[in-house]
This record gives sequence, structure tokens and C-alpha cells, in this order.
Amino acid sequence: MKQFFIGLSLVCGLALQTNSQQALAQNNAQQEDSSWKKTYRAVATKTNNLRHTKLVANFNYEKAQMNGEVWLKLQPHFYPTNQLVLDAKAMDIKEVALIKGSTKAKLVYTYDSMQLHIDLDKTYTAKESYTIYIKYIARPNEFKGQGSEAIRDAKGMYFINPLGTDKEKPTQIWTQGETEASSVWIPTIDKTNQKTTQEFYLTVPSKYVSLSNGLLVKQTDLKNGFREDVWKMDLPHSPYLFFIGIGDYAVIKDTYKGKEVSYYIEKAYEKEARKIYGNTPQMIAFFESKLGVPFPWSKYAQISGRDFVSGAMENTTATLHSDAVQQDARELVDGNNWESTIAHELFHQWFGDYVTAESWSNITVNESFADYSQTLWFEHSQGKDAGAYENYIGLRSYLSSPTDAEKDLVRFFYKDKEDVFDLVSYQKGGRILNMLRHFVGDDAFFASLNKYLTDNKFSNGSAIKLKLAFEAVTGKDLNWFFNQWYFSNGHPYVRIQQKYIADQQKVLVTIQQNQTQNKIFTLPVGVDVYVQGKRNHYEVWSKNRIDSFYFPAAVAPDNVNVDNDKILLWSKDESKSMQQYAYQFLHASNFMDRFEAVNEAAANVKDPAAKTILEAAIKDSFYVIRSIALNSYNPAFIDATMEKQIVAIATQDPMRTVREEAITILSKLNRPNYLPLFEKWVMDSSYSVAGAALAAIEQIDTVKAFTYAKAFSTQTIKKRLNKEVASILIKYGDASVFDFIAQSFAKLNIQSSEKFEMTAPLGKLLQQITDPIKFKKGLDLIVAYREAIPQGFRVQTDPYFNFKILGELLKAKKQKGENELAAQVAAVLPKM
Ligand SMILES: [Zn+2]
Repeated sequence: MKQFFIGLSLVCGLALQTNSQQALAQNNAQQEDSSWKKTYRAVATKTNNLRHTKLVANFNYEKAQMNGEVWLKLQPHFYPTNQLVLDAKAMDIKEVALIKGSTKAKLVYTYDSMQLHIDLDKTYTAKESYTIYIKYIARPNEFKGQGSEAIRDAKGMYFINPLGTDKEKPTQIWTQGETEASSVWIPTIDKTNQKTTQEFYLTVPSKYVSLSNGLLVKQTDLKNGFREDVWKMDLPHSPYLFFIGIGDYAVIKDTYKGKEVSYYIEKAYEKEARKIYGNTPQMIAFFESKLGVPFPWSKYAQISGRDFVSGAMENTTATLHSDAVQQDARELVDGNNWESTIAHELFHQWFGDYVTAESWSNITVNESFADYSQTLWFEHSQGKDAGAYENYIGLRSYLSSPTDAEKDLVRFFYKDKEDVFDLVSYQKGGRILNMLRHFVGDDAFFASLNKYLTDNKFSNGSAIKLKLAFEAVTGKDLNWFFNQWYFSNGHPYVRIQQKYIADQQKVLVTIQQNQTQNKIFTLPVGVDVYVQGKRNHYEVWSKNRIDSFYFPAAVAPDNVNVDNDKILLWSKDESKSMQQYAYQFLHASNFMDRFEAVNEAAANVKDPAAKTILEAAIKDSFYVIRSIALNSYNPAFIDATMEKQIVAIATQDPMRTVREEAITILSKLNRPNYLPLFEKWVMDSSYSVAGAALAAIEQIDTVKAFTYAKAFSTQTIKKRLNKEVASILIKYGDASVFDFIAQSFAKLNIQSSEKFEMTAPLGKLLQQITDPIKFKKGLDLIVAYREAIPQGFRVQTDPYFNFKILGELLKAKKQKGENELAAQVAAVLPKM
């Protein structure tokens, strides 16, 4: 699964302002209940095992329910048993029976709305199988599950706009099983250590297509406006990976080695389908070649769901993405922002679906691999720099959350199973894999993954099994690595210093581990020492609180590059001169070498050596480096040469987002002579470039900017351009712009940062609105948005909604004596 993200950086920014409130909330929560710290989360006991699942179902759109009949073939695991316990949540159970040949024999059962306890007709041994029949109605809206940051709630099956009353939204049904929500719509043993083959017989409206796991083996027109689609999976997988999707989609088909690779996309985006998903066959080929394990399943489809509760989900052969995957042609000019998610979910088809974490405690053996696959794919498809940057983003995310340093990677104690879907299981786990890859070497790394997958196929994995696979392949004892990274918490905080000792012709490098936990990490550290233009490489181990290393150096080194491959998962504080950074920028081979150097230079622009770095960086082949150099320019001190360079970047940089930044810098120079250029760029196909240009026009000529904004408001626009248009319309327009703003806000995906950024302007606009119907519509939009934000983010976002948006709105309305409207705001405030 890919985590839910809601313009995270913004929310983090807010969190900084409300730190004390947050700390208070956390303290209170901790005081309330810490009993979970003592509750060991055992792997689920296997009493009976699922063998085969057959479902016959139709859908009641009126009631948002599913009418189901299920045949479950089961077998005792080892010990004989006369009992069967099934997960079945919030269902209306009509019949429970045992299938005996062609007849059904009713069975005695009890049901507590969460589980069915069934008395079997006799005691079965592990050599015998039996088939249970259950007739039921699934009522997902009656299940009150808990949500998390990764998954917004847990009702398993979602009816989107089932009655078609919302004209802006298609009618869809989709399911989300992880963690244990498939059992809201199908009785099963809803545990990751169960595996079953399946066949689903789904009666769906003829006007829609359906998607499920495995192959579509049969379609029958029922002649009554409905059709029966039969989906079959001959290979076993876990119940949380079951999937059903039904809706009005275009289906675009590619193939890979004779297997169908398909993209289910809303028809408005049909033309963009291949631009969004089209790399999937190459990704399959790449992952297969790296893992030495052919794509295990019969097909691979991807679909998107409106109002999806997470980023994306790796249902076997049928990945579900948030509808944010659907980007229009102009958005794609800036690059496909869903590429990493497509790789992530695809890699899960091996790590997660083929070999499944034995329980939620070990979820990292699913998620760290999926996370790391993003690095692997970018490295392969876009080059080493892009891979290293993707890896760095993961590292930065984990390091930005200090409380996560307290959590073990493999966790047998947690408050809620949803809590393990965090920066530790994903991003930290991914960086640990990156270290492991460099430590054992590429060939051993992928050979070990092959062994892990092959040994545990169609079964379960864990960190222990991963360790055994690596040890078997490499012949090395890896306890030290797994103990400190998988079965423990934290990471090193190091101070790195160097001192040249002229009379001994040596350079002294000290690495001091300063983490507060009473724990020292064992770290293999590569060190490059550059002397008189020559690179000498050394391998050392940091194993103590302070380690001192002496390296030969006839003269003071040009640069000492500690962790020269930039792979260690640590927080570091390094003393190095800007000259050394300049040498590093020009001579070291990695993206991270240049990235560190250019960041140092950008923070110290007055240093002459920093200038050397920035001058080289602005011409760097990788856009991130160019962008940092560009943004280091202070508009107050830009000379003619720099200005020419910025104009050139704004005009022709291959990366549109870098052009956007250059335009923003030019706009700060307040030069009316750039107006013709800005007016040219405002028509650019990229929303980023056009949006930045519109903001630049506003700096010079507000009337002109308003005219452009008015014209754009009649077109379909998104992203930065949409944001600037909304902001200009609100600033210089009157209440007449409300319809555009409201519509534009309603359309935005709740996970987009634009929606978050647009909330305050919408609130501002409502201060001017006097029409009670429009006012209510605007207020409802804000309240509905706030309610759609998952619980986990509320501590951070609630002050924003309560005080900033609604508080100001109430104040403004009271001041103007608009009592009826003030009452509307006052009525919703306590609910927030
Ligand atoms: Zn995932």
C-alpha cells in the first residue's frame, strides 16, 4: 500500500506552529492508555486453512450493500478440529451450511457481528477438507472500523455516488482489504498467513466494466440490463488482497510476454492512459530481470477509484490507485507524478502478494521492498542521480520524524495494526535495504532476494526469513546487521571531524556516535581521501562511541569524503571547508556528493568557494541541483550575468518546474520589460510555468492578471495555474467569482496540497458572500473537506480549520451584522 499523503509538507509546516498543542495531545493520549505496550501481537494461529473461495454476488446500489453467497473450502492445519471461526463483519447472515455432495446440511453457529463461530458436523483431521456455504448480505456502511494515516477507514467495500445524485462524480464500487477489511464483504479467515485460490461470479450493470483478481474467464449477458462476469485466480493469495472494482472505465490493453497488462481509466483520461501507465511492461521486465523470478500472476491490471482511502493498494493482479493517478495532458508536461507509486504497487506483486508478511508486525518485508523499488526503478529508467534522489527523499522523510526513531522496524507491540504503516516500515526500511545492498554487493543482494522469494513463494515471509536468505547466499553472519536495524530502533547521530597532521603526513578522521540511546551502531564506512588530485579509497568500521582513523596524506587533502557512496542511514554533522565541498562537487561521483556541496554553498553564498559550486551547479545535468543553485540567488543581488542565466533557464530548461522557479525569481526583480515574456509563458502548456507566469504578471499589472484569470476560469485548469487563478479572482474580483472557486475546490482531490492551500482563500471569499445559499455551499465544502481528513492528521489540521478559517469567518460575519450567516458558522464550529 502507498501511504495517504495530504500535502504533507504543508501539514508539517502547520505542525510546527502548533507544536505545543500537539505535544499536549500526545501526552494526554499516552497517559490515557499505554497498556498496548504490554500486549504481544502474536502471529495468527492456523487452526483451519483456507483452500478455495467461491463468491456469487450482486450489488444493491440503493442500499449500498452486496448480496453474497460464498463457498469456502477449508482444511485443518495440523490438529483435528470440529470448530471453524470466520471473520465476517457487520453482515446479515442468512444461512450457514456444510456442502455434502449436491446437498446442503445446516450447521449450528453463533455470530457476534465480527466473527462466525461454527460447529462442524464432526471432527476433521488435517488430511480432510470440507466446504462451508454461507448466504449473507454485506453492509459495509454499518461497520464502524478505525482508520489510520495510511488507510482512512476500514469498511472494505465502498459505494461511490451509488445513486448517481452527484453529477460531478461517476458511480463506482471498489474494495480495500488491507489490513483486515475484506471480511466486511466476504466471510473469510482475514489473516495474512492464510492463502486461497478464488473464483468470483459478479452480477454487474451491463453499462459498467468489472475488475477482480486473476482472469476474466466468462461474461454472460443476463438480458435484464445486467451481466455476469466470472473472475478466476488459480494461484493462492491472502484475503486482504481480494479486489472488486465496478464502474464506467475505458480499458486500455498492453501485453507483456503474452500476459494482459491493462489500464482501467475514467473515459475523460483515456487518451492519457499510456502516458500515465505505459511504462508498466518495462517495469515488469526490469523487476523480473533483477529478481530472477518471473512475474508470478496471470495478468496485471491497474484501476483508479474516486475518494480512495489511501494512495494505492497492491491487490493481486488488480492494483487500485487513488484517482490522483489520473493526470491530464498539461499536468503530464511536468512529468508523471505517479510513476513511483506505479513501481511501488507493481513490486508488491512479488513482495507482499507472492510472499506475504506473516503478520502486521513484519509488514516491513512488504513495504520496505515496495518503497525501495521506487529507487531501483528511477535508477534504471532515469539514471543514477534520479535513483539516489528518490532514496534521499525517503531518508529525509524518516529523519524528519524524530518520534519514529523510537520504533523498532519489526514490532510485536503496537497500539493498532494500522500504526505499522509508517515512515519506519516504509522509508526507513527502504534505506536499510539500500545499505544492505551496498554492504553485500549488487549480485549477492538480488541473489538473496531471489532465494527469499523462491523459498517462501505463495506463503509467508518475515525479517528472520530474509536474514536466513541473505546468510545462505553470502555465507556471512548477519546477526549484527539485523539486530541493530530490524529488531531494534533508532539510528546513529554522528559528528565527523578531520584534522591534517603535517609532520606525520596523515589526516585524522574522527567519527563520534552521539545518539542518546545507550547503543552504539556497527557501521561499515567507506572513506575517499583525495590528495594531490588522486583518490584513495579505504574501508573502515565505526563501532565505538568515538573512532579515530589515520590516513596517509603527503599534503593536506583536497577532500575527505566519508561514506563516499552516501548510503548510511544516519544523521550527520560534518566539519568540512567550503574548498573541500567545492572539490567534492567537481570530483566526487554521486548525486549526494553534489547535493551536499550545493546545499552548503546555497547556505553560504558569500564564500568565494561557494560561488564556484553554484556556478557549476546551475549547469548541472540533474534538475534538483540546478534548482537549488537557482533558488540560492537573492533577487536583491542579482547581477546582469546572473539575470541573463535566469532568463535562459526560464525560457528553455528541460524541466518545467525549474522554469517555474526561474520565472518566480524574475518576477521578484519587478521589471515591467519582462511583461511580454511573462505573457508568452502564461500560455505555456505546463500548469507550473503558466501559473508562475500569471503570478509574475500580477506583480506588474493587476488588471491584466485579472483578465487572464477570468479567461482561464472558463477552461479546465489544475495545479499551480488553478491556484493562481483562484487567488487572483478572490483578490480582485467580487462575489461573482464564487461559482468558479466553489466548483474548483470541490473538484480537487482531498489528498492534493492545492486543496489544502485553497481552503484559506475560500474562507476569505466567504467573508464577502451574502447570499445564504451560496454561503452554505461554501461552508459545507470546508466542513466536508475537514471531515474527510483522516484522524491521524486532525491534531495538526484542526487548529487550522477551527481558528484560522472558521474563526475568522465568524468574526467577519459578526462584524458585518450578518447574523443568519454567523449562526451557520457557529453551528458547525463545535462539530469540528
Ligand atoms: Zn506499499
